[in-house]
Amino acid sequence: MNWDLSPFFPTFDGPEHRAFLADLARDVTELTAEAARLAVLGPDTESAWASVLERYEGIGARLSHVWSYTHALGSCDAANEAYRREAGKLSVLGAEVQKLGVELQRAVRGATDADIASLAGRPELAGASFFITRLRDEALLSMEPALEGLAADLGTDGIHAWGRLYDTVSGTLTFEMAWPDGRRETLGMSQRRSLTSNPDRAVREAAFRGGNEAWQGVADVAAAALNAIAGTRHSLYRRRGVPHFLDAALFDAAISRKTLDAMFEAVEANAEVARRFLRLKARAFGQEEVCWYDLEAPLPVKTESTVTWEGARSMVRGAFQRAYPSLAGFFDQVLDKRWVEWEPRAGKQPGAYCTSSPLINESRVFMTFQGALGDVSTLAHEVGHAFHNWVMRDLRGMSRHYPMTLAESASTFAELVLSDGLLSDPSIGDETRAVLLAEQLGDSTAFLLDIPVRFQFEKALYERRAKEEVGASELCELMASTQRRIFGDTLRPGGEDPLFWASKLHFYISSVSFYNFPYTFGYLLSRGLYAQFKEQGASFLPRYEELLRLTGSGLAHDVAKTALGRDLEAPEFWAESIRSLEAPLAELEQLLPKIGLGPGQR
Ligand SMILES: [Zn+2]
Repeated sequence: MNWDLSPFFPTFDGPEHRAFLADLARDVTELTAEAARLAVLGPDTESAWASVLERYEGIGARLSHVWSYTHALGSCDAANEAYRREAGKLSVLGAEVQKLGVELQRAVRGATDADIASLAGRPELAGASFFITRLRDEALLSMEPALEGLAADLGTDGIHAWGRLYDTVSGTLTFEMAWPDGRRETLGMSQRRSLTSNPDRAVREAAFRGGNEAWQGVADVAAAALNAIAGTRHSLYRRRGVPHFLDAALFDAAISRKTLDAMFEAVEANAEVARRFLRLKARAFGQEEVCWYDLEAPLPVKTESTVTWEGARSMVRGAFQRAYPSLAGFFDQVLDKRWVEWEPRAGKQPGAYCTSSPLINESRVFMTFQGALGDVSTLAHEVGHAFHNWVMRDLRGMSRHYPMTLAESASTFAELVLSDGLLSDPSIGDETRAVLLAEQLGDSTAFLLDIPVRFQFEKALYERRAKEEVGASELCELMASTQRRIFGDTLRPGGEDPLFWASKLHFYISSVSFYNFPYTFGYLLSRGLYAQFKEQGASFLPRYEELLRLTGSGLAHDVAKTALGRDLEAPEFWAESIRSLEAPLAELEQLLPKIGLGPGQR
């Protein structure tokens, strides 16, 4: 392994590791029993509950320390049974910690506002008030514990079973692939995704058509699952007294409804930027418009060379050093302390991530570096996550939990620092420039067009489902019309994907509703932050780091107001962020004809 995991534990399954786990399991059991004996939060029980909360926080830190360690080992050796067994034991322990969470909910659910304020005001809980408020808000929007228990038990064979049914259907579904050379082949649906991003348009179209024929055959089953999942949520929200079906997703995202509406208002009003990029892409393919199966296709640009690991490190370091010296200093520390696992080796899991331990305030970055420019971006991205954790290192555990909406701020910011740093190098060739620009812009299709389609579709589905079941053909019509509206004239008439609601797994994740919008939020927030950095220069960085520090201490609009003085509940911030795509877009528009990809050149 490239990374050094010894600061976590000297050896896997050694005496320190064993003792740590035994102590943790014992403390969880003891604390849960102690909490269960306590009456609801009030003046008499306040100091006891404060102590439970503090110890709960410590348990959370220890659990994530040992989880990060086990996960890191398992990623390097996916087939290792000892690591897998250990991960299984940790998920059992995690479930025990959740029971402790249920006791905490019981404590705050029956308490008065004054009791909550008094608890949050205790000196030993300083910095934990957002955590306590959220605990209470969540508890108030739940049914009484016995009913929640029943709902959880029935959920296993109900809403979650519908999700599993979908997984089984999609996992076993096959389709007929008619290759452009006349060959016919039966393929698993999981192979379709890479074919619909194939550089050859005929391959993409064949995979799209063959795949949708198969989805059409199971459309009624998928529609039944989708209706059951949405229907169950409506019933639970009614019982829990949740006023709107978006509220659960907004709570998880830690944003207000006004923020969400302002963001989508700006996205719709400025969608033209993303459409311009799509037109550029269509022309690079020799077309006037795109079809749905063109969306994930790469621009047909070739880069000249691959990058070595040493080259990648100095590219990242150089870009950080020029724009953001303290990020470069952090990156040096990451390398010196061997926090990165990068080498391609057999047995490693695919993908990249950053994991961290609040106990030792260290992060680890996992990736497989294969020499592509995209791998260099991945390195900057994951180091950005590690920097976020580093900036929060002196905060207490309860104020270090940031929601998905704010989780990608530092990572995308670091990626943009790298990308702009590379673009400012006059020695790079036009092809590499085009690749870098297209990488920045390519995401705009997903975040400004595709995800808004998913959101608007899902919202309309929930509105209709509140009244009645929605049939498969109605779902197809709703999906196609939403795509036409949002993509506008960039999408060829008839080039929609009416069955996207059936083929997209995200609509069937039974544990999370409205899975997609936090990605658009994160993308635009970090672009907006970066735009402010470019405008204000180094004086912006302390405010940026303050924002990162506060990501676990408030709703997004409060955090942005405190750290930056910006209003996320008005469309202007979001519109500015989208408009920051205009300069790279204009440059790419100029560049493509020079490398033979302009209008009429193919
Ligand atoms: Zn990330």
